[in-house]
Amino acid sequence: MPPRWRPRLTADVPRDLVQVAPGVHVATSAVYTTTSTVVVAADGTCLVVDPAVTAREVDDLAATIRARGWTPVAVWSTHAHWDHVLDGPGLAHLPRWSADVPTTDRETLAAERDADPELAGSGAPPAPIAAAATRYPQRSPGVLDWPGPTVQVLVHAAHARPHTALFLPDAGVLVAGDMLSDMEIPLLDLSADDPVDDYVRGLALLESTGADLVIPGHGHVGTDLSRRAAADRSYLSALVAGDDTMDERCALPWTAAAHGAQRAAVGR
Ligand SMILES: [Zn+2]
Repeated sequence: MPPRWRPRLTADVPRDLVQVAPGVHVATSAVYTTTSTVVVAADGTCLVVDPAVTAREVDDLAATIRARGWTPVAVWSTHAHWDHVLDGPGLAHLPRWSADVPTTDRETLAAERDADPELAGSGAPPAPIAAAATRYPQRSPGVLDWPGPTVQVLVHAAHARPHTALFLPDAGVLVAGDMLSDMEIPLLDLSADDPVDDYVRGLALLESTGADLVIPGHGHVGTDLSRRAAADRSYLSALVAGDDTMDERCALPWTAAAHGAQRAAVGR
């Protein structure tokens, strides 16, 4: 199916909130090219997904939402890694929703945040860790109960357990969390019994949406869902086989380190 709406795609990382599809806006941090997504209903009601990364960026996001006259009803965390559970004074009054209550406590997440070399290298004060999320309200199984457009909640075990993606069928948009990135290789949950199988299943679930537009948690918005999924499967196949990967996404310092760890843990 051709894209229903052609977004303005750029290779750089706009830090302002940019509309990428009707009612879907994305801001991008210089730290890990992390995206924050805001889903906005026609009446201005909005859902904030994964606000990140520095304290200034989260404050700016909240200020922009306020300046545009939108009314946030909640903050969604795609998964309970430190860079997806961040907060700020402008958002702290909102409920935090996710697919499940995270098991990692705030002190541990804050320690992981403070030990992060990319964030430390930015020199910017980090955003605080939010209070633990609660399970999201459901209109029907797997569908978010909120006043905005239909949001289907896709839960899987790739990268983190649980990990959620949000599919917006009206706009054809998939808010993918830490999946389907054009910059990051598949990052496995190496504590799982079979992290590669979990990842392949998660990819299949996301690809089954047939989304026109993908918003990765780190990287650039794209119209190439199938190509990204194929690249991820190709990386995983080479990893399992112990073959050298030709995946150019391994060139970043953090992806190179992750690839080495994954190769040691999974590769034959
Ligand atoms: Zn993550």
